[in-house]
Amino acid sequence: MNKSAIVVFSGGQDSTTCLFWAMKNFERVEAITFNYNQRHKTEIDCAIKIAREFDIPHLVLDMSLLNQLAPNALTRTDIEIKAGESGQPPNTFVDGRNLLFLSFAAVVAKQKGINHIVTGVCQTDFSGYPDCRDVFVKSLNVTLDLAMDYTFVIDTPLMWIDKAETWELADQLGRLEYIQENTLTCYNGIMGMGCGECPACKLRIAGLKTYLDKKEVR
Ligand code: ZN
Repeated sequence: MNKSAIVVFSGGQDSTTCLFWAMKNFERVEAITFNYNQRHKTEIDCAIKIAREFDIPHLVLDMSLLNQLAPNALTRTDIEIKAGESGQPPNTFVDGRNLLFLSFAAVVAKQKGINHIVTGVCQTDFSGYPDCRDVFVKSLNVTLDLAMDYTFVIDTPLMWIDKAETWELADQLGRLEYIQENTLTCYNGIMGMGCGECPACKLRIAGLKTYLDKKEVR
């Protein structure tokens, strides 16, 4: 078994949980962050700080070309973020973003002799991103193998768990408080538990409450 992995790492709750998951399951872990002029640069600062703290080799790749493809609420401060209505993706959606990120991560992984790519995509809280679905990840895995004549394994530890279970996983990894305090999920750029009002904060806080309530009952 290959003992090295690269984590697609944004500095948010999900990918930070994946980073700790990878640190537990692989001997060698590296991280890659995509800089596409996120609404809040704090997100990248979080990722850099966490990687440094745990001595994880960390590549920050310039993906600003994404803004030329699909300028939207995630990257432009003049557009308000709205939750998706009736099963539609929220207006933070960039077509094919995850396809691009995973493909770039694979190119980097092969150069480094790494086989595993770890990503925090999740089908349970499915918000309408088609390239976060399990069927897409499996399909891309085959495509990447063929494209580069190399054996990749895309690991998705969060694919079938909800936000509460993601907090539970963080707790099992001994990092519940660390992730609460040191990650950024909030669309308004507020660290830790965030603004409490945006869709990302609401999801994060509701998940934590569900998990803590469940833990108390045990
Ligand atoms: Zn928020």
